[in-house]
Amino acid sequence: MSHCEGIYVVRITENEVITLYIFDAHIDTLLRFIEEGLEGQGLRMLTGGHVSLEKIQAAGIGGQIFAVFVPPRYRQGLALHKALQMVEIFWKNMETLPDHFGVIQSSEDVLTWANQGKVGALLSLEGGEPLQGEISHLHLFYRLGVRAITLTWNHRNELADGVGERDTAYGLSRFGCLVVEEMNRLGMIIDVSHLSETGFWDVIKLSKDPIMASHSNARVLRDHPRNLWDNQIKAIADTGGVIGVNFCPAFVTDTDKQKATIDHLVEHICYLVEVGGSNSVGLGSDYDGITETPIGLEDISTVGTLSQKLRAKGYKEDVIEKIMGGNFQRLIRQVLPKKASEKRFCRKYFDNI
Ligand SMILES: [Zn+2]
Repeated sequence: MSHCEGIYVVRITENEVITLYIFDAHIDTLLRFIEEGLEGQGLRMLTGGHVSLEKIQAAGIGGQIFAVFVPPRYRQGLALHKALQMVEIFWKNMETLPDHFGVIQSSEDVLTWANQGKVGALLSLEGGEPLQGEISHLHLFYRLGVRAITLTWNHRNELADGVGERDTAYGLSRFGCLVVEEMNRLGMIIDVSHLSETGFWDVIKLSKDPIMASHSNARVLRDHPRNLWDNQIKAIADTGGVIGVNFCPAFVTDTDKQKATIDHLVEHICYLVEVGGSNSVGLGSDYDGITETPIGLEDISTVGTLSQKLRAKGYKEDVIEKIMGGNFQRLIRQVLPKKASEKRFCRKYFDNI
């Protein structure tokens, strides 16, 4: 058993072997089930793509965020409907594979599932479109197990503007501010990947809890609007938050000039550690949400290779443990409620009745 800033980073496999706790903060596999008509299959049967039960096990993943991403073509009126379909697919998978997965809904769940050798699965919305401007929909998704929200995708929504709005991008709307405050109250993790720079700074000012950028890289190394400037990296670190490095080749290197490799991704990790410190860096693969992958990171089964690369860079074991999963484990334990049932919605909203 190893130790990370007062938190045990531990994962016991079936053979009682203690292994490195690996946490991946972003995959889009739930959308694959819908887009490819695979609703009748579970993670166990899934072939092709980057993620399956077998591949997750091969990597020794200890914790995984499953994103509910509604593509833009469904957003006019169908966002809530599509999101609910994916939430149901998530729960069906969890219920069919109880020996392999446990759902993280409270801070204590993180260690419970890790100690049982199960993958802790955390449900997240990628883009606030399914909320449809209704705070009661936030409550509904919380009840359904959602514990993190990426406030926007690339476009404008009811909460804020995404990075794709470029020069006309504004920050948080009044509804977006309300969502941030309510997520803080409920114990949900605010995710600023995809968010406009103005929106980013609004969240930094407003959020009382540490935040995450679940799948973003360093903009100084690769100037892409989805990546983070140094002051943003520092600001996330200052909240006690975590940045998950994104494996998408377009966010890793200038893909016109060079093919991205695992070594290029390691450069982003090292840079993020240099700027934000070793407590603020993790992994956010974006598997099944990206079409290309860096050489050496072809699917989720390969993720563990990163720890060897970090070792070769001279990082000490405690730092490697933090980057590979300890930091996200700490963030979840800090932000989520101690017990899933301890939050109540009615008091604030039904006070006038
Ligand atoms: Zn994304």
